[in-house]
Amino acid sequence: MKFSTLAVHAGQRPDVLTGAVCVPVTLTSTFAMDGIGKLRGEFEYARSDNPSRHALETSIAAIEYGKHALAFASGQAASTAVLDLLQPDDEIVATPNIYGGTYRLFHKVYNKYNIKINVAKDTTPDAIKKALTEKTVLVWGESPSNPLLDLLDIAKTAEHVHNFRNKNGVAPLLVIDNTFPSPAFQNPLLLGADIVTHSCTKYIGGHSDVIAGAVVVNDDAIYEKLKFYQNAAGAVPEPFSCFLLQRGIRTLPLRMKKHEENAYRVAEFLRGNSAVEAAFFPGFTDFPRHDLVKKQMSGLPGMISFKIHGGIDDVKKFFAGLKLIILAESLGGPETLICHPATMTHAALPENERAKIGITDNLIRLSVGIEDADDLVDDLREALIYRSR
Ligand SMILES: *Cc1c(COP(=O)(O)O)cnc(C)c1O
Repeated sequence: MKFSTLAVHAGQRPDVLTGAVCVPVTLTSTFAMDGIGKLRGEFEYARSDNPSRHALETSIAAIEYGKHALAFASGQAASTAVLDLLQPDDEIVATPNIYGGTYRLFHKVYNKYNIKINVAKDTTPDAIKKALTEKTVLVWGESPSNPLLDLLDIAKTAEHVHNFRNKNGVAPLLVIDNTFPSPAFQNPLLLGADIVTHSCTKYIGGHSDVIAGAVVVNDDAIYEKLKFYQNAAGAVPEPFSCFLLQRGIRTLPLRMKKHEENAYRVAEFLRGNSAVEAAFFPGFTDFPRHDLVKKQMSGLPGMISFKIHGGIDDVKKFFAGLKLIILAESLGGPETLICHPATMTHAALPENERAKIGITDNLIRLSVGIEDADDLVDDLREALIYRSR
């Protein structure tokens, strides 16, 4: 079946017991047994598995074209599950531009297990290949990346990674954080990645009202390890969160199309405005590796970054001039959100690291929502005028 059909129906068939068209929110922590060792149904204890989460995991696996999905209490909990595949002294290769919280997890949590992070020189398969060492067990990438929207050739990177052998004689696993494009616009497993992670808080949930995450894989053995960890560590989403996510998934294809349409319009406006020093949007034909948009994606999410002329005070004044667009962390909701990566999403990076990857004080990130694009452009135009007053 095609994507939109899967988004509506996968894991969302009418309830067998009642005929309810929407998956019921099963609020129970535990399930009755008929005797020792005899489960009455499929479920035993809600942390291990429950009907609401099971349905959600079926949906997410289907829309990401993967065999197995596991849902977590946040995107960070999903990333942590993947990192649990590592042993002390293992190493990770990462692309330079990754989510600040992932950077923090690598550097401030996993460093105590002596897990080293080698950051590739840039976001190209060759730079990643050069960064691989005999201890590399995971390769971690984001495309488009957060916040500068760097594109990574996933198929080519998978080829390099899978041709490499570490000291255990095995190829490292390629992990792609697919939060930005969402499954509607990019499916890394189909491009050769081994593991896909999501912050479902963003486009999958899509309404700025739930925190959750997911991991999707094809390999049965990796799935079993992650499933064991999910139950053992217990960072699972509540049934009501699962319901909200499934409700979001049903309209994901529609929402993404509107985000994309608005993003093109807003990006063109920003690029043409004299107060804007630079605009970063993979849809620009002169954007670095723009060809990858056609090669590995079926559309672009509503993410744009831009630099305005001036420094932090100009950014503050510009933000103060916005009437519609909301200053807030996060992305992927119906409302347009704006943020300042240097002090918000990427504050976990030391200043010199931020500078190295282009996160300057005048960099602004925009998550373009699904409002009318005319109103968004008007708001931005007025605030840019206000800033220069
Ligand atoms: C938000 C985000 C995360 C973390 O997800 P949470 O749900 O906030 O824990 C990870 N990766 C990317 C790209 C994100 O945008």
